[in-house]
Amino acid sequence: MADATGVLVIGQTSAGALDSTAAELLAAGRLVAASLGEELSIALLGDAVDAPAQQAIAHGADKVYSVTNPLLSEYQADLYLAALDSLCREANPRVVLMARTNDGRELAPRLAFRLGVGLAQDCLEVSIDEASKTLLANRPVYGGNAIAVVSCEHTPQIAAIRPKAYEPTEMDQSRQGQVVSFPVDLDASQARTRVVETVREESEGVKLEDARVVVSGGRGLGGPEPFSGLEDLAKLLGGAVGASRAAVDSGWVPSSYQVGLTGKSITPDLYITVAISGASQHMAGCSGAKCIVAINKDADANIFKDARYGVVGDWETVIPALTEAVRELMD
Ligand code: FAD
Repeated sequence: MADATGVLVIGQTSAGALDSTAAELLAAGRLVAASLGEELSIALLGDAVDAPAQQAIAHGADKVYSVTNPLLSEYQADLYLAALDSLCREANPRVVLMARTNDGRELAPRLAFRLGVGLAQDCLEVSIDEASKTLLANRPVYGGNAIAVVSCEHTPQIAAIRPKAYEPTEMDQSRQGQVVSFPVDLDASQARTRVVETVREESEGVKLEDARVVVSGGRGLGGPEPFSGLEDLAKLLGGAVGASRAAVDSGWVPSSYQVGLTGKSITPDLYITVAISGASQHMAGCSGAKCIVAINKDADANIFKDARYGVVGDWETVIPALTEAVRELMD
């Protein structure tokens, strides 16, 4: 699209507040907009987005498009897509940033197709080539073993950024921004799927993706029962439990536990892996962990290459001893 300008973040909201992924995208968007010397805006979709709009401004948005329609009160891909398609055509942004959440994975390729442009998926970092004003997106390839720098020729240049790749900037309640109402005409018949029921997963304690400490179990645990020992350790440390894909595929824990390329990306301060080999696809989801402690009975396991501390041993011996030692320290 000719004369495209500015950076548009597609923001998600949850429970009437700005989602943490939207705040992360605004942090990325601020850097990109500053390099371009252009405006940063955010699109918020829903039936009422007043509170998240103010939060978005405090997180760095210059402008908020309040994309409203009663049919947008719940996420529905066809309707959200139709609304974003009209907004992008009207606002004509140079760059569009989306989160690679479940919704983002569904929307980003479809939006790019509708607009006839490319898409950089699963990005860890975005920047601007100042000479050409082109968006450069760094994304892992070959299961996380290499980083490709992708640029898209046509505008809008769309990138879907991995959650937790950026830290949200501090909120500044004194920031001023513009809220632009963008009502969209939608017809319920545009929706080709219907949400029959929304079941919220009950989870105790801290969410895996927000936890400062994560204890993950792998195939070497041999079954679902040992995960209760990992739960005890995680609880003592104020953390959450994760898993490798092998443990998830074996049906030992729900898929929401999976860390890795096709699971969650986590950035805890402490990541304890138990009987996980350290395949590149697993490490792709935890490369942002500040300190990895690996427990594995095979001294040659890959995980020890990435771990700061390693225990070569059987989890059946190490986990009870470690849990006991932590309990004593906490008492
Ligand atoms: P294994 O590789 O089987 O390792 C088990 C480990 O347990 C071994 O190192 C063994 O020494 C150790 N062990 C065994 N018994 C004990 C014991 N008693 N005490 C201590 N240690 C013990 N994987 C992910 O995790 N996340 C992903 O998102 C993901 N995405 C993928 C996407 C693609 C496209 C592909 C192809 C693969 C993906 N995988 C992913 C799978 C990945 O390649 C590995 O197969 C998986 O991570 C292996 O899980 P694991 O380490 O639990 O099992």
